[in-house]
Amino acid sequence: MILLAVETSCDETSVAIIRNGKVLSTIVSSQIKLHAEYGGVVPELAAREHLANLIPVANAAMTAAEVQSDQVDAIAATQGPGLPGALVVGLKAAQGMAFALNKPFFGINHHEAHLYSPWITGSPPVADFDSFQPNISLIVSGGHTMLIHVESELKHHVLGSTIDDAAGECFDKVAKLIGLPYPGGPEIDRLASAGNPKAYDFPRPMLRDASDDFSFSGLKTSVRYFIRDNPAVLDSLQKLQDLCASVQEAIVEVLVTKTVRAANRLQVKCVTASGGVTCNRALRSALETACKRKHLTLRLAEKSLCTDNAAMIGVLAERKLLHSSTPTSLDSEIMPGWALA
Ligand code: ATP
Ligand code: MG
Ligand code: FE
Repeated sequence: MILLAVETSCDETSVAIIRNGKVLSTIVSSQIKLHAEYGGVVPELAAREHLANLIPVANAAMTAAEVQSDQVDAIAATQGPGLPGALVVGLKAAQGMAFALNKPFFGINHHEAHLYSPWITGSPPVADFDSFQPNISLIVSGGHTMLIHVESELKHHVLGSTIDDAAGECFDKVAKLIGLPYPGGPEIDRLASAGNPKAYDFPRPMLRDASDDFSFSGLKTSVRYFIRDNPAVLDSLQKLQDLCASVQEAIVEVLVTKTVRAANRLQVKCVTASGGVTCNRALRSALETACKRKHLTLRLAEKSLCTDNAAMIGVLAERKLLHSSTPTSLDSEIMPGWALA
């Protein structure tokens, strides 16, 4: 069975071809350079870029997979959550393809798909997804920070999420305060690798809070005050590196502590993580250390699959197809605020 998947929820235009649990191709056209000039994603520009890029990206994905349109058995696209103008481009194009080819269509929840990206590569493969159930999944990106209890395949519930800024947003806003280009997360990661994470003490918001929620806007504010009171930190490379390492450590400690705590409380044996911030080297290594100590299996999404991509959309759609889920109507609309249960 061959499935074509489309993702256009934010600033990545992506198409993937999936065959029997294997990703034959994933093409991602990122708009980061376009939006960098504005310091963040501009929704109207994102929608126009998706319009311009979707057909070339779809053609490239089919060429790379050596698949013709008449071989495609099902189509999937992100239906929500995301930017309305961005979502509508991918959803309507995918529904049009499904109509033209007379094949079933699946509208996919972007966050539910993130739960599958750690299973796309590595062992066991996604076909054995059930063998590692249940798990606690951390989704951590520029727009979201969520802890999810995956009880079994296609069954999950959200334990907590951020009450204000997402962790990636915190990275990006702190980077902006320091004068680093957008997106700031990778820049902070790079500078932090040569810094001392114990140099400056920043708050660990909601670390001891009983809930599984997060909060990162206070941390960003305390960095702002710190820079105001210590402007000299920006004049020395070593101090800048120490500042980045210290802020990164505060974010990572909160994410890792709360993820592992939830895994222990719910007595799961597996932790997974995805979303752009999962590219962060300190987060990856802290999760590895913490999970090893607690004898938890850790599945981290491969770096190229941490950020938004159509492979995760397609893998989830294929699982739904195999579990005989009902296809989505071809005239269903985008769901920009579609929250996971
Ligand atoms: P959504 O939240 O809807 O999934 P998004 O575009 O914000 O959309 P991603 O593309 O998954 O999400 O992630 C982008 C975020 O990841 C940015 O905030 C970026 O700074 C952050 N990021 C990427 N690499 C790193 C890194 N190495 N360290 C820290 N943050 C990173
Ligand atoms: Mg993105
Ligand atoms: Fe995402």
